[in-house]
Amino acid sequence: MAKRFIVVGAGLGGLATALRLAHRGHEVTVLEKTCEVGGRAKSVQVGGCQFDAGPTLMMMLDPFRKLFADVGERMEDHLDVRLCDPLYRVFFADGSQIEGTVRRDEMAARVRALAGTGDEAGYRRLLIDLEALYRDAVPNFVRKNFDGLGDFASPKSLALVARHHMVENLARRAARYVQDERLRMLFTFQTMYLGLSPFDAPWVYAVLTYMEYGEGIWYPMGGMAEVPRAVARLAEGRGATIRLNTPVRAVDGTTVTLETGETLRADAVVLNADLPYAVDRLLEGQSRGPRRLPLAKPAPDLRHSCSAFMAYMDYDGELPGLRHHNVFFGPEFKGNLDAIFHEPLSVPDAPAFYACVSSKTEPNLAPAGRSNLYILVPCPNLDAPLTLADEQKMLGYVQGRLCDAGGFDPDRVLALRTYGPREWAADLNLSRGAAFGLSHDFWQSAFFRPSNRDAAPGLYYVGASTQPGNGLPMVLISSELVEERLVRDGLA
Ligand SMILES: Cc1cc2nc3c(=O)[nH]c(=O)nc-3n(C[C@H](O)[C@H](O)[C@H](O)COP(=O)(O)OP(=O)(O)OC[C@H]3O[C@@H](n4cnc5c(N)ncnc54)[C@H](O)[C@@H]3O)c2cc1C
Repeated sequence: MAKRFIVVGAGLGGLATALRLAHRGHEVTVLEKTCEVGGRAKSVQVGGCQFDAGPTLMMMLDPFRKLFADVGERMEDHLDVRLCDPLYRVFFADGSQIEGTVRRDEMAARVRALAGTGDEAGYRRLLIDLEALYRDAVPNFVRKNFDGLGDFASPKSLALVARHHMVENLARRAARYVQDERLRMLFTFQTMYLGLSPFDAPWVYAVLTYMEYGEGIWYPMGGMAEVPRAVARLAEGRGATIRLNTPVRAVDGTTVTLETGETLRADAVVLNADLPYAVDRLLEGQSRGPRRLPLAKPAPDLRHSCSAFMAYMDYDGELPGLRHHNVFFGPEFKGNLDAIFHEPLSVPDAPAFYACVSSKTEPNLAPAGRSNLYILVPCPNLDAPLTLADEQKMLGYVQGRLCDAGGFDPDRVLALRTYGPREWAADLNLSRGAAFGLSHDFWQSAFFRPSNRDAAPGLYYVGASTQPGNGLPMVLISSELVEERLVRDGLA
């Protein structure tokens, strides 16, 4: 029998859930605060250029393909997805460079050229071990609804944890494979995609390195925002209603009150708005919050990821030194990360950052002869709000590195928009402006991360701050998991 569902938030997690439920024949209404779908994966116009606001790297294609397949479609019919080769160009502080590639022999040769045959052998061993880790970790710890400690700490799971050294410190374990400091950075910085320092991360998160070097980085033509747009179109095609400019004020069980005072009722409500914000602000103490292990802390004490300071530039020129994706490391990788993640929080003097010029792959995203230069500098969340001086310091450093490496000239910036923790919080309701949601330290990972099911009947969560975690593929898996729960609970 068709049931009535309300999804609060039209991020990719909310849209994928809406599509799955609408495909099952249910009546689904998505309520979205902003004027567009996509949440963090929306697009932004600055000057004459179009940018992805947040995500730019499409990795782990399997959950994308699975979403389309589960509703009887083929991803290729809705998204024109291309492999990025090189993955990215990397600029080290000593002036050396390397380009990542998914072609293993070619990557091995590049590693050898940079650091010698010992590290080449280490790189080959690393990929073999990471592939095995990935094959075991995803089905057993990621794509899994945990109902109790037994699911997480079964003899089989514990054997896997031990076999793959999953809880060992990531940075320390990586050092067993490669000796060159630059390669250690190269093969560990991927935890930053979760807003987590590799020096604080468990080894299991090295699966992110495998996603890049084992499976590749992909780009959907039109930009990452094409993904939520395609999912939204399919959901609407199956009868879902998406109401934009419709902020929700409160949720009480399965009753939703909009800012306008309008009240809606459903058989079940799925909250896609960032979980800590939703628990603190929308539930208003009427609910006990998501089910958690006794070891986990109450919602206000949950730990948050870092944030991201963004600069979107309409640049007059081709930036010949840059590729589509570019990673810049500062001289002090650990010091840089300690400044962002450990008290006293501060903005590093020479931060690592990421630069994206998607107009290199898709020139029509910028006017002829111009480039859409996107900069992301990881920075503290609102626990240590950025000052204007902090922002200027970051921009100045980034521009200096771009001048040295990329042929950048500050006078050719035709339009610039900056965006930081305050904006992530104000526009998308990301708790503490933490761009990557709740932190992924060990005690907030897998079973220990807030569950997708609230203690109140009929109330569920989907998205980056619930299980399994942050990133578009994880958020898509989160929609698989919440659908599975709804089916098991007899609601879908
Ligand atoms: C700068 C940056 C770079 C990133 N890079 C990558 C990358 O390269 N690859 C990758 O895979 N991932 C990346 N990510 C992570 C990825 O963007 C997120 O994990 C994912 O988009 C989160 O989706 P979501 O559905 O959980 O939530 P969101 O995208 O946050 O969507 C939640 C929605 O809820 C809405 N909402 C909030 N409150 C209310 C309310 N009261 N009423 C109604 N609606 C409400 C919001 O407006 C929003 O639209 C990046 C993130 C950032 C910030």
